[in-house]
Amino acid sequence: MIRVEHLQKKFGNSEVLKDINFKVDENDVVVIIGPSGSGKSTLLRCVAKLENATSGDIFFNDTKMTEEDHKLCELKGKLGMVFQHFNLFPNLTVLQNITLAPILVKKIEKKEAVEDAKYLLDLVGLGEKAGAYPHSLSGGQKQRVAIARSLAMHPQLMLFDEPTSALDPEMVGEVLQVMKKLANEGMTMIIVTHEMGFARQVSNRVLFMDGGHIVEENTPDELFDHPIHQRTQDFLAKVL
Ligand code: ADP
Ligand code: MG
Repeated sequence: MIRVEHLQKKFGNSEVLKDINFKVDENDVVVIIGPSGSGKSTLLRCVAKLENATSGDIFFNDTKMTEEDHKLCELKGKLGMVFQHFNLFPNLTVLQNITLAPILVKKIEKKEAVEDAKYLLDLVGLGEKAGAYPHSLSGGQKQRVAIARSLAMHPQLMLFDEPTSALDPEMVGEVLQVMKKLANEGMTMIIVTHEMGFARQVSNRVLFMDGGHIVEENTPDELFDHPIHQRTQDFLAKVL
């Protein structure tokens, strides 16, 4: 589904991503781990085309994601992204937050969009909150709305950048639960997270990044139990 080839990203003179190569197949759940500043967010942002790579190629379903053409918009619509901060629209209800893009961007009938939003709210366990405003929700609830909002565009691939890092500890579980559910339903996902237990449970591949490189890539059991590289071992020793 996604193929990244020789991706390089520079900010000025600083090379933040160095010759990144990886593939994501349909139904893959790929987790990216690594120390702060290693380039995880930049990599996701390049895949989502929120950031342009300095060099290298990203293919989505074998179509190269170039910079200009209309195809890019179409391709971007097939990716959903969830960030650490939920960025819900404060002046819109939960339901309106979810239906806004489907109605405006995808030109879906309001009735249909509302029906779909209600289904998605049930999926994330917030069926009761359709009429609520974001300020009345907890952090975990807001993040679940943000996930539902992304899902409302029916993306083929979901990207998550530390979706639980800004949450109080007691709210982390409910968000991970929703992501597990998506994984079990076969959603293709790339997830940056520091939740190692979760990574091990849901992923079929883990990438360890350090200094702008993918240092090591393996199945979760192999990577967590038998890390090959010293840098991976050092990182895991600190976080596990
Ligand atoms: P991670 O998500 O792994 O913590 P990031 O991808 O956010 O890492 O950042 C990788 C490096 O790129 C860091 O050194 C960071 O300071 C730098 N960086 C990220 N975004 C920018 C930017 N817009 N301009 C300049 N440097 C940036
Ligand atoms: Mg980051």
